[in-house]
Amino acid sequence: MTGNERNTLLERRFRVLGSHSPLFYEEPLHLVRGEGVWVYDADGRRYLDVYNNVPHVGHCHPRVVEAIARQAATLNTHTRYLHDNIVNYAERLTAKFHPSLNMAMFACTGSEANEVALRMARHATGNEGIIVTDFAYHGNTAAVAELGTGFMPEAQSTQRVASFPIPDSYRTPQELSGDALADYYADTVQQAIDTLQSRGLGVAGILICPDFANEGLVYEPPGFLAKAIERVRAAGGLYIADEVQGGFGRTGHHWWSHEWAGVTPDIVTLGKPMGNGHPISGVIASEHLIEAFGEWGMYFNTFAGNPVSCAAAAAVLDVLEQENLLQNAVDTGACVARGLRELQSRHALIGDVRDKGLFFAIELVRDRDTREAAGAEARQVVNAMRREGVLISSIGKQDQILKLRPPMPFQREHADRLIETLDTCLTQVTEARRG
Ligand code: PMP
Repeated sequence: MTGNERNTLLERRFRVLGSHSPLFYEEPLHLVRGEGVWVYDADGRRYLDVYNNVPHVGHCHPRVVEAIARQAATLNTHTRYLHDNIVNYAERLTAKFHPSLNMAMFACTGSEANEVALRMARHATGNEGIIVTDFAYHGNTAAVAELGTGFMPEAQSTQRVASFPIPDSYRTPQELSGDALADYYADTVQQAIDTLQSRGLGVAGILICPDFANEGLVYEPPGFLAKAIERVRAAGGLYIADEVQGGFGRTGHHWWSHEWAGVTPDIVTLGKPMGNGHPISGVIASEHLIEAFGEWGMYFNTFAGNPVSCAAAAAVLDVLEQENLLQNAVDTGACVARGLRELQSRHALIGDVRDKGLFFAIELVRDRDTREAAGAEARQVVNAMRREGVLISSIGKQDQILKLRPPMPFQREHADRLIETLDTCLTQVTEARRG
């Protein structure tokens, strides 16, 4: 594809989808094919995918493709008929949770799943207020966009939402650590509770990603989450765990990232990786919550949990289990983390490295003492990596955190390629900055 052809496609896109339709990279990527951990552009150039968690078990995994194709060639309908697929899948999925989380509802996107969770929590508690971090993103429907404190202007204007600071152990508000830091952040959750109560709204729940995926995969001070949830529950609210990014074994060791902190949520929401790119999402909660919600409100979703979606989602579970991909997240994840920490020992730009299974955050700073965020540098690294054939992205209040989240079949050889390329790009960016 020539540069002219690419520019024409870009112009057509802007003309028909609007100039703000999001695209990654200074030089947008035109992808045409994917396989495993690789994607290919229109010129046949291949890129190592270290960012996409939607093709969770690998791009175009043959087992998932075959399951979708077979079911699509047999039957696909809306969801008001009896069908084996939804029942089989729901039984298999709920069995992977704590016994108290024993029922499922389906939706098509993470946003919808969170929307259902909000309605369920508000109905169950009789309260309106929701607590989130001050750099949250949980989706794009009207009610969920209200929660997008770091990302969406709507969130600034609503009374129903109160936020607390990201419980970050690297960028701490004062020189606190250990229990004192956990208590400090738990107190900020209490302040959010007090705010909602003073507005007369009460607390319906706290909605967080237990791995703080959009906040930069911060390490919570140990014990914080348990303390925060205890206070929310004491105020009558529920704990809603958004596992849209961290679910399905990404963080290794556990199927669900909330298991790390050892506090069982009241409601869990699932999405992105669930169908390997096929749109299916879910809400998992107790029988009590789901039956009470069903009795009160009407929930019907034309596409959610249809036979094809459930075939795709079941095939994802098959591959995760048969290819032992949780263990791979632990093993390859450790290998990537070692490589990143070795880079940290040589590149002053790396202030902090955080890892949870096959999920990584690399916080770039201009000065390790002041921890001044290196947002421009992070964007340069992301674009340099793309030029070198490795796809990553950045996040953070100043966009200063490199975010890495490869498909689960990521192997050691891919880890080596990632680390070598990152080494090259960090050097390029550091040298260019020195001028
Ligand atoms: N929750 C989290 C944590 C997310 O990261 C996202 C999407 N980035 C969503 C919910 C919304 O999911 P969707 O885009 O499928 O609506």
